[in-house]
Amino acid sequence: MLDADLSPQEIAAWLRETNEERLQTLWDAADRIRRERVGDAARLRGLVEISNRCARNCLYCGVRAERRVERYRMTQTEILECAKFAKKNGLATLVLQAGEDRTLDAGFVAETVRAIRDDFGLTITLSLGERTDSELVRWKEAGALRYLLRFETSNPALYAALHPDVDGAGLEGRISVLKRLREIGYEVGSGVMIGIPGQTFDDLTRDLALFRELDLDMIGSGPFLPHSETPLGALEIRDGYWETSSFQSENAAASRFTFRYPTSNDQVPNTNDLTFKVVALSRILCPDANIPSTTAVATLDGSGGRKSALSRGANVIMPNLTPTKYRRLYEIYPNKAATFEDAETTLQTALRQIAEIGRFPGVGPGSSKRFLARVADVSKRER
Ligand code: SAH
Repeated sequence: MLDADLSPQEIAAWLRETNEERLQTLWDAADRIRRERVGDAARLRGLVEISNRCARNCLYCGVRAERRVERYRMTQTEILECAKFAKKNGLATLVLQAGEDRTLDAGFVAETVRAIRDDFGLTITLSLGERTDSELVRWKEAGALRYLLRFETSNPALYAALHPDVDGAGLEGRISVLKRLREIGYEVGSGVMIGIPGQTFDDLTRDLALFRELDLDMIGSGPFLPHSETPLGALEIRDGYWETSSFQSENAAASRFTFRYPTSNDQVPNTNDLTFKVVALSRILCPDANIPSTTAVATLDGSGGRKSALSRGANVIMPNLTPTKYRRLYEIYPNKAATFEDAETTLQTALRQIAEIGRFPGVGPGSSKRFLARVADVSKRER
């Protein structure tokens, strides 16, 4: 049975399935559950990349601290302009995302959140990395409703190999932030990259089981896309290990950090086909979650990729509203979809894609049902 009780063995078998006819039953089940549980409305979330400054050195990411790239941080006026555009175009949610920018002051974020709420009445999602408990509490009090923080992989050894930062608290630290976000009262989202070097089908199976265990409200996953100016952008295989290529490590300016991790016959490919399986299984395991068709999917396969994900379990699109002049600088991976467009064009493309598959844009905040039930429970207890 394709339902939320799938066993790890069944999840793994679906991830490895190659038979087109059998896969069609997976796509059909995900699409049916999506329709029954979250309906035909495609939820639009306007994405604003407010800063590309970052204190971390995640080996896959193009805005990692060590990379020499022009850095920017948007002003409050610029962010409010994006909010105004969102409001004018009927978008109910604004997502503020950034590198882990410690110069992005907690007070600035709190005031900006408050201004977006007061002036435009938008629902606010934050995606600003691992921040202190008091900052997360403060932003919730200021009126932010949701927080996105991918755990990237549920395998602690792979997580540690990818995130060499001295002050990073490892996978356990990241998961404890996710649990805290939930306690603080946020609607919580997470997700993983698909096909990162070293990731096995068993790892990906555990990632999916962890989505279910964490009872996530939002699940966003996308293919890993190598960036040539990062340690993961130039790997070689030596003696059964993935290693940062000697070309990269000789160039000391490129990175102080190198990647070394065992290769496996069980390596997950970084394709959209695998991503669609993860999207479909996420829908089946967490039927009420909001699940985006991510920008990374659109980057690999344009409009077709976007629409396929929406037909295989996804119900959210996050059109990029970042001012055009900043987009090329938020280059977490190369050739990112919509880099040279303006917000108007990006939004129109999203609306057209939704219409082309016979769906319609949602109205209102569009929180997950599980979250709304949780909030109702808490207020009942407090009364
Ligand atoms: N600093 C924030 C936001 C990070 S960017 C945070 O830590 O949550 C959002 C996501 O982009 C990351 O969580 C990661 O999953 C994804 N990403 C980064 N580099 C990528 C790459 N090279 N290919 C695909 N996805 C990538």
